[in-house]
Amino acid sequence: MVVVEPETSKPHVVVLPSPGMGHFIPLLEFAKRLVVHHDIHVSFLQITTEASAAQNQLLHSSTLPPGLDVIDLAPANISALVSEETLVLTRLCIIVRESLRSLKSVLIELGKPQALVIDLFSTQAFEICRELSIPTYTFFTASISFLAFSLYLPTLDREVDCEFVDLPEPIQVPGCTPIRTEDLLDQVRNRKIDEYKWFLLHISRLPMAAGIFLNSWEDLEPTSLKAIKDHIFYRQIPTPPVHPIGPLIKQAEASVTETDAKCLAWLDKQSSDSVLLISLGSGGTLTAAQLTELAWGLELSQQRFILVARKPSDASASGTFFNVGGDINDPTEYLPEGFLERTEGVGLVVPSWVPQVAVLRHPSTGAFLSHCGWNSILESITHGVPMIAWPLYAEQRMNATMLVEDVGVAIKPVAVPGKEIVEREEIERVVRMVMEGEEGKAMRRKARELKDSAVEALRDTTGLSYESLSRVIKEWKLEA
Ligand code: UDP
Repeated sequence: MVVVEPETSKPHVVVLPSPGMGHFIPLLEFAKRLVVHHDIHVSFLQITTEASAAQNQLLHSSTLPPGLDVIDLAPANISALVSEETLVLTRLCIIVRESLRSLKSVLIELGKPQALVIDLFSTQAFEICRELSIPTYTFFTASISFLAFSLYLPTLDREVDCEFVDLPEPIQVPGCTPIRTEDLLDQVRNRKIDEYKWFLLHISRLPMAAGIFLNSWEDLEPTSLKAIKDHIFYRQIPTPPVHPIGPLIKQAEASVTETDAKCLAWLDKQSSDSVLLISLGSGGTLTAAQLTELAWGLELSQQRFILVARKPSDASASGTFFNVGGDINDPTEYLPEGFLERTEGVGLVVPSWVPQVAVLRHPSTGAFLSHCGWNSILESITHGVPMIAWPLYAEQRMNATMLVEDVGVAIKPVAVPGKEIVEREEIERVVRMVMEGEEGKAMRRKARELKDSAVEALRDTTGLSYESLSRVIKEWKLEA
């Protein structure tokens, strides 16, 4: 490990994301923001995992500002602790636990930073930092309403005996829109498995944080934010101070790969708002049968599209979580026969990864079929792009319902009752609706309003999110 000596005059903050692009990307953006807008020196600790090609590519393609140092933690050997069957969150939590064994010595070597910022899954850091008298903040990488649910879960765990999915009524999270049990995240659908125990462990420790940064802003989630700030339930926990500082989204890469350049050049040739992007985040994969229906639905809709067509997986909806971008596939092996030929000129198929932000901000992009990961949602809304909500795993079903029912920027296709997959006719219907229908226009208008409000929230010196972050930084500077 090479440790760069921090400059003494500036506050020094350490940022530590857990593995996975959905954590890595927003914490890197947060780190950049601290350096560029607030003159902080940041050490960004990277947990090295089974090669995450996209994560490494992101680090090496982004222009990191001077004052942001990336430090790799020593890789942890977890081979004896996990098996093929180990689920994503359990695997992630074990990698983090093992990797953080070196955290104390790294923090000591770095001198005493003003603060450590972690995400939800590195809460072992609380004890380590308490010993070193370093305040630890959590950067919450999901929605505010999901934070409200997370803060409520330990109570629910104490008060409810059965499985939450068997509850007869939606779950009434204090001050928030009730959550339908079918929307509950995978990790809380079976309370006997390790995934649930890990999740509960980390969220139960949220109150140990010195503060919680929220990657959201008031206009997007007014009700949940008000609830967390004012409702007696959250005050009694007690909930640490919350700081809405978003939306912080990934900036388009400074350098693009050859495939990325091809994709953007293709978009340049299309007319405005005419292309649907289909991309299921860093980990998302469809079953073979569902990918076939999706391809047929797209073809029937006759709309223009960019399809990130990863190799299907019948075993897991998060099949590429740890190795996205790592394997090169041949889409002809798993798309319907003749699909590429029949859609030539109308659609572009990319095997693994698109420069998503650059595509969303391109004027030709009219809508986004998304798995509803929180970063993808923020990226879509901040570019004024309406969505087709296609949730797959984690808290994505809750996000999808919020986008459709509370925010009004998305439509969700419906599977035929009793069938697990969404059929091609339904896909054709929602694609046409979002691209050409009146509903699509209304969703686009709403997304554009939110886009403007996001710009306001982040505006230097006057925006609410800017102010919120500045207040914390002022404290750090006083202590430096
Ligand atoms: N992403 C991308 N290209 C892809 C797929 C994903 O650039 O082909 C980026 C996307 O822009 C977002 C992140 O990966 O910043 C995915 O985060 P999200 O929270 O949406 O989902 P997760 O991957 O955590 O499920």
